[in-house]
Amino acid sequence: MPAEPPIRTPHSRLEAYEILAAEWTTPIAGGTDVMVRITGELGPIPERLLDLSRLDALAGISLERGHLVLGARTTYTEIRRSALVREHLPALVEMAATVGAAQIQNRGTIGGNVANASPAGDSLPVLLAADALVLVGGARGERLIPAADFFVSYRRTALASDELILAIRIPRSPGRTVAFRKVGTRRAQAISKVVLALAYRDHGAAAGWSDVRVALGSVAPIPLRFAAAEAALEGARPTPEAADRAAEALAAAITPIDDVRSTAEYRRVVAARVLHRLVRDAGGW
Ligand SMILES: Cc1cc2nc3c(=O)[nH]c(=O)nc-3n(C[C@H](O)[C@H](O)[C@H](O)COP(=O)(O)OP(=O)(O)OC[C@H]3O[C@@H](n4cnc5c(N)ncnc54)[C@H](O)[C@@H]3O)c2cc1C
Repeated sequence: MPAEPPIRTPHSRLEAYEILAAEWTTPIAGGTDVMVRITGELGPIPERLLDLSRLDALAGISLERGHLVLGARTTYTEIRRSALVREHLPALVEMAATVGAAQIQNRGTIGGNVANASPAGDSLPVLLAADALVLVGGARGERLIPAADFFVSYRRTALASDELILAIRIPRSPGRTVAFRKVGTRRAQAISKVVLALAYRDHGAAAGWSDVRVALGSVAPIPLRFAAAEAALEGARPTPEAADRAAEALAAAITPIDDVRSTAEYRRVVAARVLHRLVRDAGGW
């Protein structure tokens, strides 16, 4: 077993920023991704670790100026237990219940899921569909990055190496529905083969849906929104014809890969069927 990397535990954001600015160091929150790399079998071992456990500014769930705010250190268990999240974005509670098992839900954090930027990260389609913003900070100041701009290429993000994710800010949007569906090998303890979130505002028979978002994970190198599928549903009612059009548009737009978990063809068919099903559920047919 290789030697454990040295670890620093700052007690304030400023102290953390100073450490990040001075030396290349890997933040560690719940450690459920970082610790998998600690044996060196899956690539280079982090040289130094920055323990985020004492940074209170990264903790807690609150409502602030029209936003549901989740501190970066918020765990899946905290999300599952939060009355605020349940009220304002129940799809996030549903998502949290599908991650790993209790141990992973107790330690794994939303900030870690976003920073890790796996195409299969389960929170990421929900955050994209809900127009979430990622609040990041470092010695040069703080900035807000729309989730849609945060994932740059495979496992690369807009976060600089001397910055931390501080919080996820989700605009409150009364009247918006966000639906979530994850497909894995089994119902629990499975990494996604396809993960999808659909958001819309329903204006009834005359005006149909607006503000449609269709966001997926595990079907491209990064979690993504799919504009063609969104356009097929914008202004539409959740009818069988609209579901067919949206599913076809999605199947044509995604670029899944074959890997150990699934084939590209399976992912393409299933992604389209899942979207179709969510539209059907919304239409009640
Ligand atoms: C058995 C098992 C099952 C799993 N199941 C799932 C699953 O079903 N769905 C799923 O999506 N994931 C799953 N994961 C992956 C993992 O649990 C999640 O990605 C989790 O959210 C990571 O959070 P963490 O706090 O543990 O991150 P860490 O391991 O602490 O960090 C992950 C990455 O993010 C960086 N980081 C963490 N916090 C910050 C921050 N505030 N600012 C900047 N960078 C930061 C770290 O440097 C590291 O690169 C699983 C992992 C395991 C081991």
